[in-house]
Amino acid sequence: MLRTIRIRLSREKALIETIRIYSEIYKYTVDVGFKNKTFNKVDLHKQTYYKIRNKYPNFPSALVQTVRDVSFETLKRTKFKKKIKIKQYTSIRLDKRNLDVNLKDNIISISSISGRLKIQFKGHSQISKYKDWKPIAGTLSYKCGNLFLNLIVEKETPKKIDLKEVKEDEILGIDRGINNILVCSNNKSFNMFFNSKHLKRIKGQYQYLKSILQSKGTRSAKRHLKKLSGREQRFVFDTNHCLSKMLANSDFKVFVLEDLKRMTNKKLGKRFNRKLGNWSFRQFEMFLRYKCEALGKRVLNVNPKHTSQTCSVCGHQEKANRNGNIFKCKKCGFELHSDLNAARNIANLGKSEIRRLSVNQPIVASDETKKLVKDSYKPTISMVGN
Ligand SMILES: [Zn+2]
Repeated sequence: MLRTIRIRLSREKALIETIRIYSEIYKYTVDVGFKNKTFNKVDLHKQTYYKIRNKYPNFPSALVQTVRDVSFETLKRTKFKKKIKIKQYTSIRLDKRNLDVNLKDNIISISSISGRLKIQFKGHSQISKYKDWKPIAGTLSYKCGNLFLNLIVEKETPKKIDLKEVKEDEILGIDRGINNILVCSNNKSFNMFFNSKHLKRIKGQYQYLKSILQSKGTRSAKRHLKKLSGREQRFVFDTNHCLSKMLANSDFKVFVLEDLKRMTNKKLGKRFNRKLGNWSFRQFEMFLRYKCEALGKRVLNVNPKHTSQTCSVCGHQEKANRNGNIFKCKKCGFELHSDLNAARNIANLGKSEIRRLSVNQPIVASDETKKLVKDSYKPTISMVGN
């Protein structure tokens, strides 16, 4: 399994200069490739390499090759349709040839225009957590006067628990909704209702401010808006981080969630910012999957259809069973909070899925793993709305 950690480095002049020159070479290579419509990496190399070596003799040759690869990818991606703009300080892609990180002693060794540099960095709990992981690659970036290394680290994925050995009471159904962010099927083990009144109120305020700011549309308003969504993001990020951590560390071994791709807008909320709801649910699931992966636990997705209208005791499904927060079965008379009833249905669906899977072959979570790898290369939180 892979994870990304963010390391802040002191503002080493040689590194900042390396990034600047890297960006200059990047721009040059892309421009040459664009002008000549170079469809071939070898050609691009021939057209640029020696000129670059002559102009920047101190620039590490391994990095020249990296720039060429990155440039070629950029050209291929944009298909020579429009001229590509390269920032003055773009991120440098680093691999074993030009980066070595010692996470036990907090030291990096990195190629630069002043030769190989050894730099000590300040550790903290989010870094020391990964001290027995293996660094495999990274990116170096210079933004707003700060120098950051985003490092990808690897560790062997723990063996997944065998579904045949999972007991029914180790399966937790989780209903994600608007009134209560999460409602779990087992009320004994948890504070069942993580009430999101606070979250909702805060979001309401943001929505209001956003609409005012958007109608203004001035530069300062836009700046304000950016700051706002950052705060909003951090709030959702923290909430999701706490909830997923608590759940993953509980005694439950399998977590069952509704498949978001199949969730209707109604479920995601009408008045509530749908985009934000969707995004925050997805983030929660991603966090839970990350944490479960590290513990060998599992996350299953089930079809969300009728989970809120079906009786979790007798299975009778009827729209009239549910009236807002109250679920009352028309057939057997069973009564419960509707979100909790839904969570129990989700758990039941998970149980039958597990029975099905443990009879057949074990699940190969290839898509899941692929997604994790993909996400681990995206160190920043994806943006909401603006
Ligand atoms: Zn019933």
